[in-house]
Amino acid sequence: MDQEAVARTLPQRVLDALITRDPHQRLRLAMTGLAALLMLCCIAAMHLVAAAGLTAARPVHWWTLACATGLAAVYALIRSGYSSRWHDPALTLLQIVYAIACNATAYVIAGPARGIALPILAVILMFGIFGLTPRQMVGVLVYGLAVFGLASAVVQWWYPPGGQPAALAGAYMVMIVVVLLSSTFLNMRMHATREKLRRQKAELAHAVEQVRELATRDELTGLPNRRYMLEMMRLEGLRVRRGGHPVLMAQLDLDHFKAVNDTHGHAGGDLALQAFARTVLASVRATDILARWGGEEFVLLMAGTTPEDGARLLGRVRAAVAASPVALPAGGTVRLTVSVGAARLHAGETPVALLQRADAALYEAKRQGRDRVVWAGQDAPETIAASA
Ligand code: GH3
Ligand code: MG
Ligand code: MG
Repeated sequence: MDQEAVARTLPQRVLDALITRDPHQRLRLAMTGLAALLMLCCIAAMHLVAAAGLTAARPVHWWTLACATGLAAVYALIRSGYSSRWHDPALTLLQIVYAIACNATAYVIAGPARGIALPILAVILMFGIFGLTPRQMVGVLVYGLAVFGLASAVVQWWYPPGGQPAALAGAYMVMIVVVLLSSTFLNMRMHATREKLRRQKAELAHAVEQVRELATRDELTGLPNRRYMLEMMRLEGLRVRRGGHPVLMAQLDLDHFKAVNDTHGHAGGDLALQAFARTVLASVRATDILARWGGEEFVLLMAGTTPEDGARLLGRVRAAVAASPVALPAGGTVRLTVSVGAARLHAGETPVALLQRADAALYEAKRQGRDRVVWAGQDAPETIAASA
């Protein structure tokens, strides 16, 4: 016996055996248990009717046997897992159809006490209101009308001998129709409400996704924004602290961008920024994250990259930008160059401190004449190689 089984109390183990520990099975079998309880009450009521002398005991006994057998079969089908291959593993429709047949039979054999079948019919249909689709419910409506129509005919002309006044049969039939119709109506209302909730949930999820997108994306370039990058930096920092891979960070700033705006207008500058983002993205790997930090400044986060690979990649980016003049729709081209400051995350360093060192390196790149990559402090690949 495994540890878990030992830890469970006896009532828990009995419950496990009866309704399993699978949550789906539990729900189905619990519903069948509820139906069994309802049927038990009906059986008790029918036996009281027989005890009162209003009907013969024999048909009530046969009826009890039929009810119990049907329920046992449903329980066995669900408990064995056999029904899970079917479209309706809870057998809701089957249970309702069978229960209505039993109910109509009770209506016939209960004699003058047949009115007790009506509230039970309402309770059976309540299961349908919650558990059936509107199509199935309409099917149940038609079936219910047919079965009770037949039951009324049997009472009228065949059993029990003597029948009942036609007006009374009519009164019962009216109530049966009312119960069936109102249940079908409620089922449809319930279905419509559920559909509405489902739609609202999908709309809400879509809206949340849009808000998330707006909160983390830069509108002009479509790149992740500063907020997103700060979060990524924080996560990378955590990973590195857990003994992860090397992390490189580069700060990119377009050279003399004010002049681009002055010459080609702000709209021309915007197009140049978009083209720049595309050029850089085409040169980096899918795992690198390029974000627009603000204005014409960008940050590139390279996780799992050695300084040698990072230096090659940044050299490629710089060359690609310089070699990709941006054609403007109004005519003319914009030639761009970019200065890059790069740094490697050191043990114990915060991502913000790393960014500051990359920024200082960028400043140095500008000072040295722009259109170049400068590494922070001792982070240049050749320095690392020499000191190793
Ligand atoms: P440096 O080589 O020193 O970086 O020179 P720079 O002209 O690029 O200098 P600076 O960073 O001071 O100027 C950035 C310019 O970028 C100023 C601003 O008008 C422009 N800019 C910032 N954001 C946008 C934008 O969204 N669209 C456009 N068109 N221009 C922008
Ligand atoms: Mg600039
Ligand atoms: Mg700038």
